[in-house]
Amino acid sequence: MDLYKDISYLKGVGPAKAKVLAAELGIRTYADILDYLPFRYVDRSVISPISSIREDDSFVVVKGVLSNMQTLATGPRRERLTVDLFDGSGYIQLVWFAGTKWVRERLKTNVEYLVMGKPAVFNNVWQITHPDIEPLSSVDDGARHPLMPVYHTTDKMKQHGLGTRALARITETLILAISQSDSPTIPENLPDDILRHFRLIPRREAMLAVHYPDSRQQLDQARLRLKFEELFFLQLDYQYAHLQRVSRSQGRIFAHVGLLFNRFYKEKIPFPLTGAQKRVIREIREDMRTGRQMNRLVQGDVGSGKTLVALMCMLLAVDNGSQACLMAPTEILATQHFYTFSRMLDGLDINVQLLTGSLRAASKKKLKEQLANGEIHILIGTHALIEDDVAFRDLGLVVIDEQHRFGVEQRAKLWQKSLVPPHILVMTATPIPRTLAMTLYGDLDCSVIDELPPGRQPVRTYHRLERNRPLVFSFLKQQIDAGRQVYIVYPLIEGERDRSGANPSKGERDRSGANPSTQSEKMDLKNLQDGLEMVQSYFPRPQYQTSMVHGRLTAEEKAFEMDRFKRGLTHIMVATTVIEVGVDVPNASVMVIENAERFGLSQLHQLRGRVGRGADQAYCILMTKDDLSYTSQERIRTMCSTTDGFQIAEADLRLRGPGDIQGLQQSGALDLRLASIVDDEPLVKATRDTVHDLLVADPTLARYPLLQQHIANSKNKMLWGKIS
Ligand code: ADP
Ligand code: MG
Repeated sequence: MDLYKDISYLKGVGPAKAKVLAAELGIRTYADILDYLPFRYVDRSVISPISSIREDDSFVVVKGVLSNMQTLATGPRRERLTVDLFDGSGYIQLVWFAGTKWVRERLKTNVEYLVMGKPAVFNNVWQITHPDIEPLSSVDDGARHPLMPVYHTTDKMKQHGLGTRALARITETLILAISQSDSPTIPENLPDDILRHFRLIPRREAMLAVHYPDSRQQLDQARLRLKFEELFFLQLDYQYAHLQRVSRSQGRIFAHVGLLFNRFYKEKIPFPLTGAQKRVIREIREDMRTGRQMNRLVQGDVGSGKTLVALMCMLLAVDNGSQACLMAPTEILATQHFYTFSRMLDGLDINVQLLTGSLRAASKKKLKEQLANGEIHILIGTHALIEDDVAFRDLGLVVIDEQHRFGVEQRAKLWQKSLVPPHILVMTATPIPRTLAMTLYGDLDCSVIDELPPGRQPVRTYHRLERNRPLVFSFLKQQIDAGRQVYIVYPLIEGERDRSGANPSKGERDRSGANPSTQSEKMDLKNLQDGLEMVQSYFPRPQYQTSMVHGRLTAEEKAFEMDRFKRGLTHIMVATTVIEVGVDVPNASVMVIENAERFGLSQLHQLRGRVGRGADQAYCILMTKDDLSYTSQERIRTMCSTTDGFQIAEADLRLRGPGDIQGLQQSGALDLRLASIVDDEPLVKATRDTVHDLLVADPTLARYPLLQQHIANSKNKMLWGKIS
């Protein structure tokens, strides 16, 4: 049997359904449908009585008879179809907004149906919107398979008769055909000794059972086998790539510690390094002098002093005759780094320049010349750095600040700016939970700055409501009168993310000053302006001065306002999340976050990190509306109870799942279909260690033709993109 056959040949599919499957799920062949795994199983013996449905049921299976079908016009060519399902214990309403015609023509009253879906209460009525529904008679062949697979489907699929039950029937047909054929069809891909050691069932058996398990126990075995396989190959990809890089790729050798580094260390450094900073610098030096190319992630909580570490490593590169660059995600941040560097390096014989999108053409041209002939030693900038016409004479070290803001291709482009790949240092304050780091960064060496500079006191965090505002403001007044400064942050104006983030073409749109386009952008902008007015009426000029910064300002306007605040000319900075990363004004002592319920945990943590950067006590005040959802409450509670970035990251992972964690969107860990890096930590460890031992014993995989095969197949997909 050929698994690469077109799906339309499969019984029960046909050309029309094949088209929908391809469009909606990318399923084209028999193999594709086999790979489309159920996301849950329904035990037929546990059909619930309708009366027992509860609010927190995320999915129910009920059966009953239909009555009272009604269509309501909700607009030109739009309608809403409802029908009641009754099972003797109670009613639940089934609702359709789309595909109503199809449903109306097929559903019959007085016939028993099996219905599945997510229940919700609307206007005091229990409902299931767009349920999966089919006549009970067509389901009741079930004695053989007590557990019914449930597949994700789309509304479009349901409208074409491709609900989860239909998919289940299609896979069943296929599985029957496969199990009756003699040829292996689903070949094994894990080596024998590993199967034996971990007592895993064969791939073929697992693939069939994962769709139609005979028992709970068999299902568990099948899932274990498939999860193992998934994590194993992820680890193999990473670790094999790592091995290749370490053994093959040439790196520059920065062997000596030169004049710049030494003079900086002896004369310029404004404070003693923390133990953690010293250790990390040592680790980096170690890397850069071995002759292999460095690919290192430096994690350090906000305020841990990553900038200084980066600066000193860049001096090392320059001391060894290379150029270095630092790429920051926003113009504000790049500019700030530039001033910090210039100030700290004042008096040393070194040329540091800034390149951002708002640099004028003439200056830009000159800068590029100096870069190409080596006159510039250190270049700091935004994604303007990666434009094709920016050429270095000899780029030896690339530092990427706040890496989660950059897309994969952007990093790859920097990498290509040099014949011999430059050393790469990626710095992030977004703490990554350990399991995740283990999975994600198989090919990245990690350093952690796990110590804050001495004398820092943890920021005190409080939760306040609108009715507490007078007290909050009088507290701000006290702080300002005592000579401190204050941030008040409002939720994002839509589109800011583009501007500061991943997309370079939109990236420098700052200067267009475009009007907000969506409704929510308008709302946010209005919010911000109302906020500013309120602040200014409470803190009147000229006694109190206020700055405002948001993503709609031009880069110059932003820089101007930031600078005024930084120099202490204004007391209050009203801003959106443009100031989220890296901004450093040690005199600021209070961070007020408005509508804090709208921010994610890592964002709240980042924002809070803007204060408490000096020796004095700092405060963070989370303003929210009164009634908060469960997860918002949990986020606020977490923030008030800890300042430890790792704990916050773990809480974030728990509350949201890895899919939402910033910066992980393009990483392989999210392509995981079965395994979960949260719940399957032991398995992550086991596969990591297994792969490690295997590669130590047999680096070329000579004894494992199956694994060699896998490497050959995945090579094309594994650019360095996945690596960092
Ligand atoms: P982040 O890791 O968040 O990027 P920064 O590099 O911006 O942190 O440093 C935060 C603040 O701490 C800065 O004001 C910096 O000058 C200061 N700092 C850095 N290292 C030390 C140190 N070893 N001792 C005292 N202050 C330090
Ligand atoms: Mg920083």
